[in-house]
Amino acid sequence: MRIKSVRCHVLSAPVERPFTSSRGWLYKTRNTCLVEIETDDGIVGWGECYGPSAVAKAFIDTQFAAQIVGRDPCDIEVIWEHLYNRIKDYGPSGMAIAAISGIDIALHDIVGKACGLPVHKLIGGAFRSDVECYATGLYFIDMDRVVEEAVEEAEEFVSQGFRAVKMKIGLGSLKADFERVKAVRDAVGPDVKLMVDANHAFPVPIAIRLGRMLESIDIDWFEEPISPEDIDGYVEVSRALDMAVAGGENGFTRWGFRDIVARKAMDIVQPDVCAAGGLSECRKIATLAIAHGVECVPHAWGSVVGVAATLHFLAALPDQPPAFRPYSPMLEFEQCENPFRDDLSPEPIVQKNGRVAIPTGPGLGIEIDRAVIEKYRVA
Ligand code: CA
Repeated sequence: MRIKSVRCHVLSAPVERPFTSSRGWLYKTRNTCLVEIETDDGIVGWGECYGPSAVAKAFIDTQFAAQIVGRDPCDIEVIWEHLYNRIKDYGPSGMAIAAISGIDIALHDIVGKACGLPVHKLIGGAFRSDVECYATGLYFIDMDRVVEEAVEEAEEFVSQGFRAVKMKIGLGSLKADFERVKAVRDAVGPDVKLMVDANHAFPVPIAIRLGRMLESIDIDWFEEPISPEDIDGYVEVSRALDMAVAGGENGFTRWGFRDIVARKAMDIVQPDVCAAGGLSECRKIATLAIAHGVECVPHAWGSVVGVAATLHFLAALPDQPPAFRPYSPMLEFEQCENPFRDDLSPEPIVQKNGRVAIPTGPGLGIEIDRAVIEKYRVA
């Protein structure tokens, strides 16, 4: 079996109700770069790259595709190392690694389909057949109704079956953030897990002060309180707070996560399989984390391809630590408008009672509807 072709599909879909986080960028569209790799015996594997789609496509088209055509798709790690070593003088992190991630996921899909096995069987097997998921949402949409809309959205998630919700914070005032989170906590009650995500909006002292306030209303983790470059700052915030501090969605490769986990700068690291280097590299990051007593709970913000890849990664992730009733890693199930999550596969991945089944079909275990690709293709 040899790789015959590598093709990128850049897709974009408008969002009916644009939303923003603490960064203030207005999300008016959802975008993705899907990677389609075909073998000489007709097997097609799908991958996805996180981040600016056209940039991922440019890396793959100009730097990587020619490097892998003709190679055996089973040589996943050999190909990974080759591509990384080709690019590391220019792109040891960032979009070059997101591009490798999409290729790595597509190769796993191919090998699984060739063997008739789901991807999690290729990477060690399943510790669980389903995972708890949390709804990511509660962005800022109508700035005149930030509290009301957060409460309504959280209540809607709970009514759909979610037992865990992550909300955005970063309104520029400790009081405004606290009151909004408190309103959501009061609305969902004490039995729903609630996490907050600042998208690195705060300086260290503000993060610690707000964290102490939020601890009083039982928040499971404080995600990206401060800038990802400031590892010393993460050490300070993590030590100052009782609640878990999470981050790392903007981290790449085992080398990018090494100092974070070795210094226990975060309690939870959140590599994204579509960004940090694919399934191969996220497995290494998770092992590194486990060895240092840091939890690995992956970030996910993509299409059904990325969600499926994340589910296989989660299936093969041991509990940290194993226990009679362990605190198992959760799936980030982002819930903003996204046709690539909901419509790209004829059978979308769904949650029931706050849990998502690990796909069991060959490869990623999902079908791709090419009509949806054509509908949203960027010319
Ligand atoms: Ca986040």
